[in-house]
Amino acid sequence: MKFYSTNNKSIICSLKEAVFKGLAPDNGLYMPQRFPVLTRSEMEAIKSSNLTEIGIIISEKLFGEDIPQPDLVRLVGEAINFDTPVVKIEDNLYTVELFHGPTLAFKDVGARFMSRMLEHFTRDRTAEVHVLVATSGDTGSAVANGFLGAKGIRVHVLYPSGMVSPLQEKQFTTLGQNITALEVSGTFDDCQRLVKKAFLDPDLSEKLTLTSANSINLARLLPQSFYYFRAWNQVPGKDIFFSVPSGNYGNLTAGLIAREMGLPVHKFLSANNINDVVPEYLQSGVFVPRPSVTTIANAMDVGNPSNFVRILDIFSGKHERVTHHIEGYSYTDDEIREIIKSVYKNTGYVCDPHGATGYQAARTYMNHHEGVTGIFLETAHPAKFTEIIDPLIGRPCRVPERLSAFSGRKKQALKIGNEYEAFKEYLWSLN
Ligand SMILES: *Cc1c(COP(=O)(O)O)cnc(C)c1O
Repeated sequence: MKFYSTNNKSIICSLKEAVFKGLAPDNGLYMPQRFPVLTRSEMEAIKSSNLTEIGIIISEKLFGEDIPQPDLVRLVGEAINFDTPVVKIEDNLYTVELFHGPTLAFKDVGARFMSRMLEHFTRDRTAEVHVLVATSGDTGSAVANGFLGAKGIRVHVLYPSGMVSPLQEKQFTTLGQNITALEVSGTFDDCQRLVKKAFLDPDLSEKLTLTSANSINLARLLPQSFYYFRAWNQVPGKDIFFSVPSGNYGNLTAGLIAREMGLPVHKFLSANNINDVVPEYLQSGVFVPRPSVTTIANAMDVGNPSNFVRILDIFSGKHERVTHHIEGYSYTDDEIREIIKSVYKNTGYVCDPHGATGYQAARTYMNHHEGVTGIFLETAHPAKFTEIIDPLIGRPCRVPERLSAFSGRKKQALKIGNEYEAFKEYLWSLN
C-alpha cells in the first residue's frame, strides 16, 4: 500500500516512510491510496471476533503488503491486548468503552499500535530511534505507556511544569526504562515549539533519528478503525449510527475509514464541547478555525482540528457529501454536567465529560429518527475526572487499580528551561 499527501496526491510514499515522517513534506497528512473493502466472508469472520482478531483481519488488508503476516499477527496481538466492550444504556442506545487499556483512554489503541509498528521497522537498525512528544496531559501518558519497553526506541516527553494534573504527571514520569520525562519551565506551546525546532534542526537530524508520535500519524489513526467493527458486532439492530466525542477528529476519521472498508454505518455524529468549528462548518459550509477555549471536556479543546483535512479528502471536499454522513452537536460545560447527572440518575451509568457529549448527541438524534440504533464512544474512564464527576453523582467514582497504582510511584523528571539551546544540548548528549 502506498500513501499520498492530502495537499498533493502525487506525493507518494511507503508505509514505513509515512510512519517515520508523520507529516508529508508539503505539510499535508498522509492517506492510504485506497481503502481495501472487506469481503463477505471477512465480514462474517468479524461478526464473531474480539478486538484483537478484528485487528488482525483489518491489518492484513491495510498493511499485508508491507509487513509479513506472522510479524503482523504478533504486532497486533501485542498492541491490542484488551477489548472494547459495549454496554447497553437504554433501548437502542449503547456505548462502546474504549478505556480498557493501560492509561484508560482510547489513545492507548493508537499509541500501542504505533509503537509496535515503529519497533518492527527499526529492528534491523543499529542506531536508536528517538520519539519526541509534547503533551498537555493525556497524549504523553498514552504514548509513554504505549512505547514502554519498545526495543530500539527511546521516548522523550516534554510537558509544562505545574500545568498537568498530578495523576497525569505520574502516568509518564514514573515509568523509567526507555521513557524520559522533561519538565519544561514554560507552557505547552513552549514544549511544542521545542519539539518542532528539534525536528527542523539539521545538526540533530544528522546525528539522531528523530520522529514524532502525534495523533496525525497514520500508525495511530488506522488501528482506531478496529473498534468500530468491534462495537458493531456486539450490537443487535439495524441502521447503526456512531456518536463520536471529537477534538482533533482522529476518532471520527477512523470511523469514516471503517465505513469505506465496508462497515454498514447509517450516520456519524460529531459531539463537541463549545469548541465547535466542525459543527459550524456542517451548518454553514465554511471552515473557520479559531483559538480553543478551555472546557471540562478538555481533550476536545481544539480550535483547528488537524484531521479535518482528512475528512474533506474522503469526501472530495464536497460539503453536501460531508453533511450527508456527519451531523454536528455541541454542548456547554453546564450542559455537560447536567448530562452526566441525568444519565447517572436515569440509567446508573457514569459518563465521563467527553462521553457525555456523545450520549446527548445520540439521544437528540434518536428523537428525530425512528428505528435507528445508536452507539456513542466512551473515550476515557470517568475516574480520570473525579473532581468533576464525584460532585455530580454524589459519591466517589470507582478508580480502577491500574490508575490508582500510578499515584504511589516516584516521579522522575529532568527539569529544563524553555529556551531551545538547553533542549538541544540534552538531545545532543544522547548518542
Ligand atoms: C483525544 C480525546 C478525544 C478527542 O479525540 P480526537 O480523535 O482528537 O477527536 C476525546 N476524548 C478523550 C478522552 C480524548 O483523550
